[in-house]
Amino acid sequence: MHWKSRLLHATASVPPGFRSFATPVYRGSTILFDKMADAHDEWHFDRGWNYGLYGTPTALELAGRIAQLEGARHTFLAPGGQAAISLIYLSFCRAGSHVLLPHNAYGPNRGLARGLLRNLGIEVEPYDPMMGAGIGAGIGALIRENTALIWCESPGSVTMEIQDLPAIVAAAHERQVPVALDNTYSAGVLLDSFAFGVDVSMQALTKYIGGHSDLLLGSVSVNTEAAYRAVGATHQQIGMAVSPDDCSLALRGLQTLAVRLEKLEASTLEVARWLAAQPAIETVLHPALPSCPGHEIWKRDFTGSSSIFSIVFDRRFSPAQVNGFVDALKVFGIGWSWGGTHSLAMAYPELNRPTGDYAGRIVRLNIGLEEPADLIEDLGRALATLE
Ligand SMILES: *Cc1c(COP(=O)(O)O)cnc(C)c1O
Repeated sequence: MHWKSRLLHATASVPPGFRSFATPVYRGSTILFDKMADAHDEWHFDRGWNYGLYGTPTALELAGRIAQLEGARHTFLAPGGQAAISLIYLSFCRAGSHVLLPHNAYGPNRGLARGLLRNLGIEVEPYDPMMGAGIGAGIGALIRENTALIWCESPGSVTMEIQDLPAIVAAAHERQVPVALDNTYSAGVLLDSFAFGVDVSMQALTKYIGGHSDLLLGSVSVNTEAAYRAVGATHQQIGMAVSPDDCSLALRGLQTLAVRLEKLEASTLEVARWLAAQPAIETVLHPALPSCPGHEIWKRDFTGSSSIFSIVFDRRFSPAQVNGFVDALKVFGIGWSWGGTHSLAMAYPELNRPTGDYAGRIVRLNIGLEEPADLIEDLGRALATLE
């Protein structure tokens, strides 16, 4: 062959037997078949290789490892946590469907409900996340003939309420309604979502699995055959591909997940307890502190806490002063997202919630791997600028 053709049909080989701790990054759109009889193009997540869109070994190893961690039948990957949320809606809902979503859910999830889903004829009704606590009938009363999905997010975004998952799942399953959980806070390991009966558990792998603020990726884990079929078909039909390079970063993140979570839990509790004792702070919303709504449920259901919590300032402070507090922080960065190596702060001048009056007084903190003493010093200095 001409050297120009040999560029494309090389016969160079490497010695067999290579082993390493890292999963190789397999890039590829085309996947080759040995013979025509192997070239099937029907849906078959459990049956070999077909096309790069449905995963290369790098993506499928990551999916397999997340499935093992969460105790799932199968895990599907999405290009981000928000994409994973969209995949779940599109898998379980159709025009005319009704969905229940806690009113403290991740903001862009509520945005999707108000935007695209409404345009598609899917009605998403907000509900009180503390519903079902002790009274399993609470959420049952909201279920309609056309209810296709109930979302849970525990703890909820920013205000951190812990939901009574077993009570909600029992009410939902009595009416054959599947339950999806945004399980990002627990990194898929601090809460055994499938033991509590949820049908679908999603994570923004962007947060703790990536762990370094340099990755966007999401996962949707399922344990029933019905959920596997529903999510798998939708995943394929909308062509939700993930990059093998991103998957390799997530695989690397998994190797240090345990030590990061342990350190983050201890540092976060130290900072949260210090803040709870400051006169400027009315309350601290951290699942492991009794001041957090649903703390007793957290003790019952979770095996640990992670790195985010919120503080609510005393009423004497204005939203401008609270913004000033965040601006005065030097070690904490101001930014969205969490679960990485650096500490972050974010104020919420508007908090679109039907209950609670925390708007303008609440600041969410993400604790990173800095020494807690340096974080406390930074917070103390910023608090002093308020008085
Ligand atoms: C960040 C986040 C998401 C979305 O994840 P992205 O990867 O940023 O799209 C979903 N749910 C929760 C609770 C989150 O915090």
